[in-house]
Amino acid sequence: MKVKALNGFKDILPGETDLWRKVEDLARDIFARFNFSEIRLPILEKTELFARSIGETTDIVEKEMYTFVDKKITMRPEATASVIRAYIEHGLYVKKPVQRLFTIGPMFRHERPQQGRTRQFHQMSVEVLGSDNARVDAELMAMGSMLLSELGLDISLEMNSLGCPECRPGFRTNLLAFLEERKEELCDDCKRRRSTNPLRVLDCKNPSCRQIVQDAPSIQEHLCQECTSHFKAVREGLDQLGIGYSLNKFMVRGLDYYCRTTFEFVTTDLGSQSAVGGGGRYDGLVEELGGPKVPGIGFAMGMERLILLMLQKEGKEDLHAEIDLFVAGLGDDASRLAFSMIHTLRKQGVDAAMDLDGRGLKSQMKQADKAGARYVLIIGGDELAKGFGVLRNMATQEQRELPLNDEGMRVFAESISTVVS
Ligand SMILES: [Zn+2]
Ligand SMILES: [Zn+2]
Repeated sequence: MKVKALNGFKDILPGETDLWRKVEDLARDIFARFNFSEIRLPILEKTELFARSIGETTDIVEKEMYTFVDKKITMRPEATASVIRAYIEHGLYVKKPVQRLFTIGPMFRHERPQQGRTRQFHQMSVEVLGSDNARVDAELMAMGSMLLSELGLDISLEMNSLGCPECRPGFRTNLLAFLEERKEELCDDCKRRRSTNPLRVLDCKNPSCRQIVQDAPSIQEHLCQECTSHFKAVREGLDQLGIGYSLNKFMVRGLDYYCRTTFEFVTTDLGSQSAVGGGGRYDGLVEELGGPKVPGIGFAMGMERLILLMLQKEGKEDLHAEIDLFVAGLGDDASRLAFSMIHTLRKQGVDAAMDLDGRGLKSQMKQADKAGARYVLIIGGDELAKGFGVLRNMATQEQRELPLNDEGMRVFAESISTVVS
């Protein structure tokens, strides 16, 4: 019997990986423009790291984590907790007062698989640790917007403030009073959330809950003086950078650790409205995890959803491989020469391929086409005797002779590198 991949775990195949790389490369480029450094983290962490940071009563910790119960370790469901764990463990706050970090990699959650949502999924996560300046919030949102816009995606930014430990309890009390009045109409999940995580009722997807919360008290009207001016400064920063956004008083995000600014990058291109990324401020989290009293903010973007959107936009046909040269050697002697020649070319930086199995010219030309070869060098018996191969430019169909020696290879390699750069 054939062994198949686990449900919710997907292979990313050749061709698809080109698009993944394109997204990752652009992300790295943009993160560098904003002066972020990469951090790479282990996939396994102690379970308590996530229980303490994400929150015991969140859906993630309650039912979605891949945990080895006997060993008390968990495959990370998100990256922020691990970034902070490493930040504290290595005293990164001593090295730089403000750390700007990013990481890209797989995360794991045991959810029902659906389009754009897998159990192993991939995120780009960015975190700024050490500043509570509202400009950092604006800059982070600007960076996310820049990435999405340079990927050619049409996405809107939604934003909210969740207040702080000073002002949120007052809001929570008013919200609970409101929910108490309407409790019979809430969905079963929200009935439970009333006692565990009442803010989550605000972003419940159930149509009846959505209707009810329209009348709920607004967090934005409960912000304390400091949260109000911070929120105002964030919006001024966004205006200054020309970043469009809309306020969404129902956005609470799923995790316990958020405070003040929260935001999501939202699209309607995947059917219903959905977030391709989001994040927010978590000023108490570093201290909560045993570190210094240091504010932080970050966001994550889901690679799978970005890839889906890119595929919708570009279509699969654009994603073809490309090599510089395919060497078609006909017959044993030509094939033998081609074998050493492509090695010489590869040493000089040329992406080169050949048919190793001695097929005919027609079959080899097909292979060259599939490989996306920009040039094909044909070496038959006649060419071998004369010491010149026929070099064909596949785009223009122009042909010229190329000496089958080191000098010829060097000239070709140079012509390729000038075309590329
Ligand atoms: Zn406040
Ligand atoms: Zn609900």
